[in-house]
Parts: sequence; C-alpha cells; structure tokens
Amino acid sequence: MNLVLMGLPGAGKGTQAEKIVAKYDIPHISTGDMFRAAIKEETDLGLKAKSFMDKGELVPDEVTIGIVKERLSKDDCKKGFLLDGFPRTVPQAEALEQLLNDLEKGLDYVIHIEVDKSVLMERLTGRRICKDCGATYHLVFNPPAKEGVCDRCGGELYQRADDNAETVQNRLEVNMKQMQPLLDFYQEKGYLRNINGQQDIQVVFQEIEKLVGDLRA
Ligand SMILES: [Zn+2]
Repeated sequence: MNLVLMGLPGAGKGTQAEKIVAKYDIPHISTGDMFRAAIKEETDLGLKAKSFMDKGELVPDEVTIGIVKERLSKDDCKKGFLLDGFPRTVPQAEALEQLLNDLEKGLDYVIHIEVDKSVLMERLTGRRICKDCGATYHLVFNPPAKEGVCDRCGGELYQRADDNAETVQNRLEVNMKQMQPLLDFYQEKGYLRNINGQQDIQVVFQEIEKLVGDLRA
C-alpha cells in the first residue's frame, strides 16, 4: 500500500493521514518529520540539508530526494507508506518514480482530498483566539457561546494576522498554483484519485477505506 496524500491547507489532510496510518499500520512520512529525523541521526544527507536550512535556504531537490530514498528504504516501509508533503513539484514526482523503481516499489494511489476554495476560506479564516488564555475557537465548527467572548475566561477573542482573508487567499492561491501541475501529472499517469473532502470526516475516511481496501484483497 504505497500512497501519496495531497490536499490544500484546510482540506483535512492531517486528520485523514492519522486515520490511514492508524488503520493500515503504515508509516506516515511527512517531509518535515523526515528532515528532522535525518538531521537528528546526523546522516550525510541530513547534515547537508541542515547546512542549507541553517542559512535559511531551500534544500535542493537532490538532497531532499536522497532523504526520501533513505526513508523509503527502511524496513517499516515494506508493507507500505503514506507520503505527505512530497512530492511538491513535477520534477520531484519524476524523481520519486525513479527512486521507487530503484527500490523495486511502485505507487498505488495518489489520494487528493478535494475541497472548494470557498469552503477552505471559511475553514481557514474562522479561527479565533482568546487574548487572555489562548483558547481557540472556530466561528463555524466550535463557536464561543457569546460572540467575541471566551467561554473559559471571558477574555476578548481575536483573529491572528495569518488567518485573515487576504493572507489565507494568497496562501491558497500559491498552493493551488504549485499543486495543479502535480495533479495533472498524476492524472495522466493514472494514479490520481479525488476524494470529496467536503463531507463529514468519517465519510471522507470511509471513501479512502473503500479505495485502498482493494489493495489488501
Ligand atoms: Zn480565554
């Protein structure tokens, strides 16, 4: 069960990733975790990656791809893996194909959790935080009893600058622009499976189960 998980911020990718790895007992391989592990273990590639990160520079593809290869070669990936956050670009996707070939593995599905931009906007801009105690609320999913007031301590609720409409809109557009060529690439290769992420979390997961269930059969 070799999977790649894709989705825009707010699509619920993290939640579904947790459910997938718990149910199928495969490792969740996110780029961030992978870098942290390689740096902690002080592998050659990990140290190389660190030298770029310390300078505030982007880690070059060849280093990232090397780290992915090391990770996917580990024993716990024998029964499968869930890649999350990699690949980000078509050249990375091509490199992934090559390295899976080298490892005598192949992809099964690229699962794309699809959510309309307007829904993502609602999800991502609805967060409110208490000025006094830091409690978090969501206008739609977890609203306070009284508008603008913290249930816990009566403090005033505010919106973080990162969560304002303009910032969120920009973030989504940058992500969409980056993701689209990758979706096209995997569509053409026949790996892409779109899952409607606008449904209840459980229903989204059931659809993923239905999809990957036949890999186990
Ligand atoms: Zn509070």
